[in-house]
Amino acid sequence: MSARILDGRAVASRVWRDLSERVAALGEEAPPRLAIVRFAGNGPADVYATSLARAARSIGVEPVEVRPPEGVGQNDVAARIAALNRDPLVSGIVIAQPIPEQLETDAVLALIDPAKDVDGATPLNVGRLARGEAAFAPATALAVMAILRTSGIPIAGRRAVVVGRSAVVGRPVASLLLGADATVMVCHTRTRNLARETRRAEILVVAAGSPGLIRPEMVNRSAVVVDCGINTTRDGIVGDVDYATVRPVVSAITPVPGGVGPVTTMVLLQQTVESAERAAEERRHHAERFDVPTHAPVEER
Ligand code: NDP
Repeated sequence: MSARILDGRAVASRVWRDLSERVAALGEEAPPRLAIVRFAGNGPADVYATSLARAARSIGVEPVEVRPPEGVGQNDVAARIAALNRDPLVSGIVIAQPIPEQLETDAVLALIDPAKDVDGATPLNVGRLARGEAAFAPATALAVMAILRTSGIPIAGRRAVVVGRSAVVGRPVASLLLGADATVMVCHTRTRNLARETRRAEILVVAAGSPGLIRPEMVNRSAVVVDCGINTTRDGIVGDVDYATVRPVVSAITPVPGGVGPVTTMVLLQQTVESAERAAEERRHHAERFDVPTHAPVEER
């Protein structure tokens, strides 16, 4: 029997409908804004930034593109991000990575106001997530959880194995699974017998960046497999799981493309809308207390 296909596009359109309604409920007066900082000459990040801007617009969130000039210095970037932090209409800030070499990536990410850090990149949100506290999480990790939850896959008490321990995918996925009461194992290149570990997984999340890494003999028949990999090969975009051979021997699997990818953009926007809702609530609260207008003027950038 072939596996159930966990369709990321279907999950993404459910989130899309929910977000469109929530943005409409926020009112047209002040549509939430998502600032996307994109550095010059960064090809792959540009593709992502363009599709993120398009998706934002489709739910009524206004993308604000910030394009620092080539060779920009740390102080200039800091001033631009500080202006976005201060702007009351900017609900989310995303910095397209990789960040150019002349800048220090961690220092740049740390400039974002944690309340607007809708891709969970600041040290504060990373720390909160690791401690199991409420936090904005990296979108890909959150997309994995959204797929499992909307597909009705039980997580609590399940043995989950994550292949990959990067800061953007593997580690945050492991934290979120742990937060959902799974029993979590994290594998990496120094794991001694990867197949032995992955075979034990009831939920297998793969984020290794290695096409075809997971083969049929490495999975359990009852496994739910979520493939985060996006690898460009001669055969087109493929995941980290050898889909054609693994699909027939597991219980559920995400395709690539059409799995984690489309959901990633939507959950990032979900966190942006959450941030906007929180800010609107604070403005209402403030207005009630001090009898002032709810919409503060937009600052010049
Ligand atoms: P990184 O290269 O930063 O991390 C890869 C991780 O996988 C490392 O921890 C590495 O171990 C581990 N790994 C690599 N090869 C093996 C192997 N053969 N056996 C066991 N572990 C292995 O990649 P990212 O986390 O940034 O990305 C992972 C994949 O997810 C990529 O294909 C990327 O394109 C994709 N991605 C998808 C996104 C989406 O929206 N769907 C967003 C971001 C990334 P070690 O630490 O020991 O080196």
